[in-house]
Amino acid sequence: MLSRHGIRLLFQKEPAISRPTAELTQISQVILPFSFATEAAVVPAVSLYDTVNRGTPLAVIENDPLATVCSSVMGAVSGERIIQHPLYGTLNCAVIDCVPDVPAPEVPVLLPETITPELILETAERLDVIDELDGVPLILKLREWQETGCDFLVADGIEIEPYSSSAWAVLRDHAENVLEGLRLAALCIGAERYHIAVCLSGHRRRSIALRIGKEYLYQTDSYYPKADPVRYGKRDGRGTVKRSSRVYRIGVQACLALYRALYLGEVHSRCTVTVAGDAVPHPQNVSVPFGTTVQQVLEHCGLTEPPDYLVLGEQMTGTAALTSDVPILPGMTCILAFTAKAIRPVTTRTCIGCGRCVQACHKGLLPFEINRRYQNMHYERLASLSPHLCDGCNACSYICPCGIDLAAVIEEAKTAGNAISVEWKEDTDA
Ligand code: SF4
Ligand code: SF4
Repeated sequence: MLSRHGIRLLFQKEPAISRPTAELTQISQVILPFSFATEAAVVPAVSLYDTVNRGTPLAVIENDPLATVCSSVMGAVSGERIIQHPLYGTLNCAVIDCVPDVPAPEVPVLLPETITPELILETAERLDVIDELDGVPLILKLREWQETGCDFLVADGIEIEPYSSSAWAVLRDHAENVLEGLRLAALCIGAERYHIAVCLSGHRRRSIALRIGKEYLYQTDSYYPKADPVRYGKRDGRGTVKRSSRVYRIGVQACLALYRALYLGEVHSRCTVTVAGDAVPHPQNVSVPFGTTVQQVLEHCGLTEPPDYLVLGEQMTGTAALTSDVPILPGMTCILAFTAKAIRPVTTRTCIGCGRCVQACHKGLLPFEINRRYQNMHYERLASLSPHLCDGCNACSYICPCGIDLAAVIEEAKTAGNAISVEWKEDTDA
């Protein structure tokens, strides 16, 4: 359903959203890239048969120390592999055979009043806290926001796409700790106000609000992709957040990781992913060490045969994967496996000019016009339609009654503007 607040997608989060989160601790193997850096010189810091602990750096990168990846498990390096990751491209990886890791007792190592902004920065860097919203180290964001200043910090747990419920699972299990991690991040960057933004049904929202206080929970009134994690124009006890406010957002898993890093001295080594889709016998939220292969997680959820379609990320914005033998890395929060019968064949018709794609676009673009110009090879006119602003949210393709995959066309149109236009002249050599 399309409204001025966005597109209301069919709710597909059950049954994963209602099931407890599974903690996968007995993983046989993880595959971790030595680094995400593409240009810096990467020198592996471990070799074959070396023993590693959680937090052991796998490489040394002099020019870009933040690009170093640390081991997420205790184990022994058993090999090296180059993999083609659908989300991260070509990665040179260490293969680590895991040994059973006895979790350390959770003894707080710090008191809240002893934590300073400098300590938060130092800890986020040392213990590798990564924001699951985009896979970027949190330290980079905190440093930048410290410089620019921040009026409002939001922990983004909205998840309005149809399947994903990993943010909800983290909030359900750790709401108080997520809020404390958010408070620490806000303290670090000098943001006086902060809240957790969600898009949850009444009973789920109330259960979280009861635990953390309803002033810290904001229910968005928008749907995909227009949801705004900011309390624009709404009053709480402390006034109104204006549109001109400097508002930044981080993921709820990053908040939890920051809390655990500061209070428990724990390296950020795990993430929670939703595993769902009609090919999955037991859809569930699963907490795994980084580097666990998608295949191991699918098997845990009862999948015995390869699915017909595998998507890393959400239904609307995820990336199709050809193999499940790829690792789960920071920034992945959803894995979908479908059978062929779940995929509807789309019959495409000519645009009828209904304008629904324009209404759906949260970037204010004219998808039908970009499509028309592109199909008619009016490449020189594309630049003025700003296809480069498109973030590939797919809302226009989803809503188009004629089945036109506008998002795919716009992706191609982004580079078509650079096409060389040749002016044909009469051949004078003859
Ligand atoms: S895919 Fe691009 S053009 Fe289409 S609605 Fe999203 S941002 Fe707009
Ligand atoms: S939604 Fe589809 S049919 Fe309607 S104007 Fe856009 S491209 Fe044309």
